[in-house]
Amino acid sequence: MGKTDIIIIGGGAAGLMAGCAAGELGLRTLVLERKHKPGRKLLMCGNARCNLTTNISDGRMLQMLGEPVGRFLETAIGAFSPSMLQRWFAAGGLRTVVKAGNKVYPHTERASDVLNLFTDQLRDKNISLACSSVVESVEKSKKGFCVATGNFWVESRYVLIATGGISYPKTGSVGDGQEWAKRLGHTIEPYRPGLAGFEVEPYVLKGRIGTIYERVVVDVLSEGRKIAETRGVYEIEKWGVGGTAITDASRVVARQRLETVVLRIKLENGKIEEIKPMRVRPVKEAMVTVGGVMLNEIDSRTMESRICPGLYFAGEVLDIDGPTGGYNLQAAFSTARLAVGAIGKRCGKGGFHALEKPAKRRPRK
Ligand SMILES: Cc1cc2nc3c(=O)[nH]c(=O)nc-3n(C[C@H](O)[C@H](O)[C@H](O)COP(=O)(O)OP(=O)(O)OC[C@H]3O[C@@H](n4cnc5c(N)ncnc54)[C@H](O)[C@@H]3O)c2cc1C
Repeated sequence: MGKTDIIIIGGGAAGLMAGCAAGELGLRTLVLERKHKPGRKLLMCGNARCNLTTNISDGRMLQMLGEPVGRFLETAIGAFSPSMLQRWFAAGGLRTVVKAGNKVYPHTERASDVLNLFTDQLRDKNISLACSSVVESVEKSKKGFCVATGNFWVESRYVLIATGGISYPKTGSVGDGQEWAKRLGHTIEPYRPGLAGFEVEPYVLKGRIGTIYERVVVDVLSEGRKIAETRGVYEIEKWGVGGTAITDASRVVARQRLETVVLRIKLENGKIEEIKPMRVRPVKEAMVTVGGVMLNEIDSRTMESRICPGLYFAGEVLDIDGPTGGYNLQAAFSTARLAVGAIGKRCGKGGFHALEKPAKRRPRK
């Protein structure tokens, strides 16, 4: 391969979107992915249906993300919002549909169609994607950065790290990006399980394993005070309690570093049960990792490192996470496009083409 403008490390949600964005700007780009196929986690998203984003306003989205994530993502979401994301997919030939809870899916409800769209676009835009390329190190060099795998090394002025968090390590995200960032001077916020279930006393589970309660409301209480309210499904599992209302509560516990909590669960039939979780399930089982590259060391207007110029980050490698419902993919896609847009500017490229708004239907006479 000749000269590259940008090396993107990671072929997950953020890396694939970054590769497509780089193709749109005409940047010479190489995407390196450790697995023999890209997008392993993407294929698992939304039970393989891929909940791409949420159909709410940008302001509401930032509010739902909470602090400090919401403030950090303001520029990224403004530059590539949930509605722009839906238009981007439609322009690529994959319409989206809005389902219950404002959840947005590809109309086919197949994550594999999302992945195919990404890989087709990379091919059409001549972006090289090298799978089975396990990056081992990222170091500063005369030309910018030297990125080395076990078999080859490449240099580039700009590097975008999109290697994900540390959840579901079998999908390839094992925390490598955070290690390189640390060696280049960054601080890593300790990892905590973001969206995970809780282990509870056996009496909570007795005679109910496999039961699913729809539409519950959970009050997250700490030291007698209500900290947050989550809504969704409550499931009784062999190992403890799960479901979206519970996993969203675990994110509140992780973000606010709550030591002890009580979950007050209001069921649809009006019954209320209170459970005192013993512990949260491990981070490798969580759907998202809380913790990662510290946000105050990143310029939120560009996703560039404030510590190591020329180094950019996107997606879950950063200390960003959201509740269930499409927030995490949106964050990965938005940060990826913001970073590539900023690199494009530095390489003298114009901005992205405007995404057409859907034609307004004429009112019936
Ligand atoms: C079961 C499950 C379901 C989910 N469902 C949803 C959903 O429906 N909606 C939603 O919004 N979010 C969902 N999420 C969360 C979402 O999948 C993640 O937040 C998102 O994938 C993060 O994207 P990323 O690109 O930052 O990281 P990843 O998708 O994890 O991608 C990182 C990539 O980097 C590669 N990589 C890592 N290290 C190296 C290395 N050394 N060299 C080369 N490549 C490397 C990995 O192999 C991987 O392909 C779900 C998560 C899980 C686990």
